[in-house]
Amino acid sequence: MAYRIPSDTEVVEAIRDVLGRYGIINSQRKLTEFVLRSLRRHDSDYAISEERVRKLALGNGLATVEIRCRDTREKTSAGACPVCDGRTERIRNLTVYGGSVTMGYKCRTCGYWTGLKNRVPTLYVFTPKP
Ligand SMILES: [Zn+2]
Repeated sequence: MAYRIPSDTEVVEAIRDVLGRYGIINSQRKLTEFVLRSLRRHDSDYAISEERVRKLALGNGLATVEIRCRDTREKTSAGACPVCDGRTERIRNLTVYGGSVTMGYKCRTCGYWTGLKNRVPTLYVFTPKP
């Protein structure tokens, strides 16, 4: 199957269009379907991943996101935010001994957080930013 990859600009335009029309969208799959429908009005061979739509929506400040997660037993590793690629900060707690311990990580951009056991996002609710 031949398919084409739309540019960031085209995708951002499509996301803006879709959020303006539908308002709150309660799953990443739906958001991607609507965006793809909008993109395919220009080129019926366009394809896009859910992850790319999510990261462009959040990275360009088009939407805020509410994230549902499930807990895992895996250790969280420090690094970029898995939701939006934003910077994460340590969540620290002071100890009675005067030091501090890392309790987890929080993203400044989208609000995703995790404890020391990795929380894996399972559902996203997108709300258009005014
Ligand atoms: Zn984030």
